Amino acid sequence: MSLTLPPLPYALDALEPHVSRRTLATHHGRHHAAYVEKTRALVQRTAMEGASLEEIVLSSAPGSTLFNVAAQAWNHAFLWHSMCPGGGGPANGAIASLIEESFGGHTAFCQQFVTVAGDQFGSGWAWLVLDDSRLRIVATPNAETPLIGSLVPLLTIDVWEHAYYLDYQHRRLDYIATFLAHLANWDFANRNLGCAAGESPRNVRSERTMTMNISNGTKQA
Ligand code: FE
Repeated sequence: MSLTLPPLPYALDALEPHVSRRTLATHHGRHHAAYVEKTRALVQRTAMEGASLEEIVLSSAPGSTLFNVAAQAWNHAFLWHSMCPGGGGPANGAIASLIEESFGGHTAFCQQFVTVAGDQFGSGWAWLVLDDSRLRIVATPNAETPLIGSLVPLLTIDVWEHAYYLDYQHRRLDYIATFLAHLANWDFANRNLGCAAGESPRNVRSERTMTMNISNGTKQA
């Protein structure tokens, strides 16, 4: 399977005014594209040529150049689906009940999400994850991703400056608040939750890979 840049699941201006066309064009068409291209170049003529992006992330050494570019390609594919036009606000579906159980309600969830994402020093990501049967919010630096651990990623926000600087400059907290109020894709989070529900850790892994193959627009060979 050849690694390709997955298309955005919406038009470049679909997230305006919260994320501008200019930001999305650069973020997807330059940053994400470069991670895909570098990953493809690094696996060319190696045993990993033909592997899926998930397999490359899972089999490369964390912190290595290959891991960093492949994980960034995976994280960005997950990111586009974590946002949608008309998103944000209180969650719906099964995840709404879990937010109530895990955080005590939407307001408390938002406060914790803003704190974790805002406090990530330097570049990185904040994730809503399923940890066994409860939800947690975790941050990962640089390219690190919950894909390689036992946590199941449900939703993410990119807090690298390239994700928000054109639109928000230094105001990362405004960008995070906007994500929660107007962009978070609860249907995507519910689909990821549904894939993980009731599965053993081993099956969660395979379901998670399947989820990503849907969400990043690639197809298994
Ligand atoms: Fe990014």
